[in-house]
Amino acid sequence: MTRNRKKKLAIRAEADGGSYTEAARLHASTPQEILTADVHNRLMDAFKAAGWPVENDGFPEYGTWTGWPGPVWSMLSRPQDWHSEAHPDDPDHYDLTAVPELTLITPKIPINTGEAMVLRLPGTMPAADVVRAVREELTRTRAAKVGELVNNAACSLCGDRYPAAHLLPSTDSDRLVLCPFCVFDGDILGSHPLRLVYLIDELTSEDVAAPAGWAAVTALLACAAGPAFRERLEDVGVLQVPLSHWFDPDQVWVWLPPGDLPPALQGLAPGTSLGTLVSAVETAHPDLRDRFRAQVAATLEEDEEDSDGEDPRDYLVEQLWPSAICFAVTAATQFRERPDGHSPWHLLDDGFEEGNLSDHFDQIGSTLDADSLGPVFTLSIGVPLISEVLGLGPKP
Ligand SMILES: [Zn+2]
Repeated sequence: MTRNRKKKLAIRAEADGGSYTEAARLHASTPQEILTADVHNRLMDAFKAAGWPVENDGFPEYGTWTGWPGPVWSMLSRPQDWHSEAHPDDPDHYDLTAVPELTLITPKIPINTGEAMVLRLPGTMPAADVVRAVREELTRTRAAKVGELVNNAACSLCGDRYPAAHLLPSTDSDRLVLCPFCVFDGDILGSHPLRLVYLIDELTSEDVAAPAGWAAVTALLACAAGPAFRERLEDVGVLQVPLSHWFDPDQVWVWLPPGDLPPALQGLAPGTSLGTLVSAVETAHPDLRDRFRAQVAATLEEDEEDSDGEDPRDYLVEQLWPSAICFAVTAATQFRERPDGHSPWHLLDDGFEEGNLSDHFDQIGSTLDADSLGPVFTLSIGVPLISEVLGLGPKP
């Protein structure tokens, strides 16, 4: 029996006051309404559940729902007149049974202006499948764009070669441009983090192949500054709005190393929120902090021959720990993505210096005391230790 024939029979059955079953079957065969609000919210929740940082407008504009999971811009709308201001679930303006279309692009630049990834999917696709498709496509896109990079400039400090746009001025001087691993080096004087913040946002939002290490600089500044950073940044008087990761470092997007990942990070490629990264690392290595403390004790014993080896102070600065994890992981990302570049671990060997950290902390309004050795130990001892424990460190 054809579907039409079945339908006709059902309609006749209903017209005749026929059986309930026939009427129900008729009802089931009418196309279902699909609410864009549900599709959008389910999708944003699925990205959050997958460990992505998500920003969400929470209302549609010009018929389009917009959200920003990690480096991706998600748009959901019905086939429409782009100038319509009607809510996409308004039955007076739209056929609610029409399948809405999901467009996911990266980087987060206006569509049709040279985006690296454009994924169009039906709004009926299960949210978990959309997340998987985005993960796969984003992994491919990042790898392809990193592969196309041309290193036409050099970091003013370490000399490592990068595309000019990937090096940023971290001081007042526009000529002193640095890679992410040189920003906190002792040779850099006169830091200007409040300007760097906006430059990092601009670069990482607009370039899917930006160096992974800028996430670590973001994490360190945001972790050190604390929630009061928002006010300080908004007072700078630039027109750009700082991204929310500056006041909530859990939301920093972290590019993970391409290729095989250690067990702790499995399933998170190509990237994740710093909050998810930290909890994944700590769940897999609950003894990480104890190992850090043991390492600090061993270092102090080595350094100070006259010390009795029983320094009661705890040098682990909790507030900076996520940024140490971020440096460890993104150093590995950069190492794998830039096989011809300098070793990031080598740069990080003495890449954190008290005077430089203190200068940064002052300007961002941090209450941490960089001269108390805690911050510099947490980073300079923590980063290599975390790399080693994760199996991401330099091969001996
Ligand atoms: Zn450098």
